[in-house]
Amino acid sequence: MSRQIAGIISDLERILLDATTIQERVIAMAQEIQRDYADKELQVVCLMDGALFFMADLLRHINLPIRLHTLSVSSYDGGTQSSGTVQMPEKLLFDLSGKHVLLIDDILDSGLTLITVQERLRVECNPASLRTAILLDKQRPRSFDVSIEYIGFEIEDAFVVGYGMDYQGHYRHLPCIGVLNPNHFPQI
Ligand code: 5GP
Repeated sequence: MSRQIAGIISDLERILLDATTIQERVIAMAQEIQRDYADKELQVVCLMDGALFFMADLLRHINLPIRLHTLSVSSYDGGTQSSGTVQMPEKLLFDLSGKHVLLIDDILDSGLTLITVQERLRVECNPASLRTAILLDKQRPRSFDVSIEYIGFEIEDAFVVGYGMDYQGHYRHLPCIGVLNPNHFPQI
């Protein structure tokens, strides 16, 4: 590990998932998805920016024809709590009609983001099938009943960064996932 990354990791109070653990689980998820979609072309819709690293690693282990689409959504505005609304483009420009769609996101928190995107994809794009893959499922009570077919890890209810997930644009490039040190970030 470079000295620079080691210095950034010291901003973490603790590491929840190290790089090796993440990579092993992502490969296992890719194998499961490949089995489930055997002989099909997969249309991937990746929610940006948080799922960028997860998607890149996952898809490189899926040996199927894939078309990749990205969708910029935001509900956290760079902070540590959901704003309660999901910002996304007014019009979805994908042609997903009659196709098999895999939606990819980084983390399930309240569930508002995924339930909103799933509903829009179903209503506006009319896919043949829609499944969802997430890396992290935060263990917390939630009022939305979101259906998720592929889950990487269940984690505690804490604000996490790394492996694509940020705090005010920082920490996305960390190879591990951890909880920020509250002494450095009293506002969290
Ligand atoms: P939800 O709509 O489920 O409340 O939140 C989902 C989105 O909020 C995720 O896609 C992610 O962008 C962001 N988010 C939720 N929890 C965390 C977290 O612990 N850390 C970071 N960095 N982002 C989070």
